[in-house]
Amino acid sequence: MRLKGRVAIVTGASSGIGRSTAITLAREGAAVMATDIDDRGGAETLAAITAAGGKARYLQQDVRSEEQWIATVAATVAAFGNLHILVNNAGIGSGQLVTEMSLEAWNNQVAINLTGVFLGCKHAIPAMRKTGSGGSIINISSVAGLEGSAGLAGYCATKGGVRLFTKAVAKEYAADRIRCNSVHPGIIDTPIWTKIDEGGLQELQAISQPGANAPNPDMIAQMGSPMARAGSPDDIANGILFLASDESGYMTGSELVIDGGWTA
Ligand code: NAP
Repeated sequence: MRLKGRVAIVTGASSGIGRSTAITLAREGAAVMATDIDDRGGAETLAAITAAGGKARYLQQDVRSEEQWIATVAATVAAFGNLHILVNNAGIGSGQLVTEMSLEAWNNQVAINLTGVFLGCKHAIPAMRKTGSGGSIINISSVAGLEGSAGLAGYCATKGGVRLFTKAVAKEYAADRIRCNSVHPGIIDTPIWTKIDEGGLQELQAISQPGANAPNPDMIAQMGSPMARAGSPDDIANGILFLASDESGYMTGSELVIDGGWTA
């Protein structure tokens, strides 16, 4: 029970890394407000947590909306009395060459992957200050926030933005004992690979195997990943758990890379 008595918000909790994180934090004693734009998956996440004896609620939330962020933080404090942990996880992937990318697609990716993270921090920090014991914010970036990748310029821009935004927040709120760290997953076996707009890029198509539910391990190996396999959502959730807990109490503004050696 590494998070006993803590209250957490996890966005994008209907699927993949967000679902695994919500389940993991609840297993370790946190009361979890699981949110997502996708209600059906949210019900499944909630059922998994409550079946294991955990404490959670589900709320539909579009992370692009400031009003919905205000409502989510208020609902969390109303339900559980406090807010200590925020996991800004909701995100989308879109693979298009810069010259092929519409302004609409660019703006939507920025709104979800980067503005959503800003809004989450903006509205969670005042609630965390009131706890008197500080808080921990975990922003999900990517290895694409550390290295450029052809065909993923928009995604790289948002994830690189999350990386440095995280460090600035860490410096601004350290005196309030609010820590802020980023997590950089490599290729993780989640449904994102079935939703990604590959923009006709062969390399992305080969990894994402349209119609399949898992990234292609042969392709991952060919691309030079030393462990030659995709990671699991739990691999990332365990890193997030560490950053949420007091075990990482001296870490803020850090980058936790969990990529099977991809960027090594
Ligand atoms: P996922 O399985 O697709 O889960 C993402 C969740 O976010 C989905 O339930 C999605 O709903 C939701 N979402 C999308 N737009 C939203 C919005 N506007 N407001 C609220 N929720 C929204 O993907 P994942 O792989 O777990 O990704 C989680 C995070 O990890 C993302 O930030 C992603 O960029 C990052 N990441 C993933 C990988 C990987 O290989 N899987 C690698 C590096 C980083 P819909 O299904 O309705 O869109």
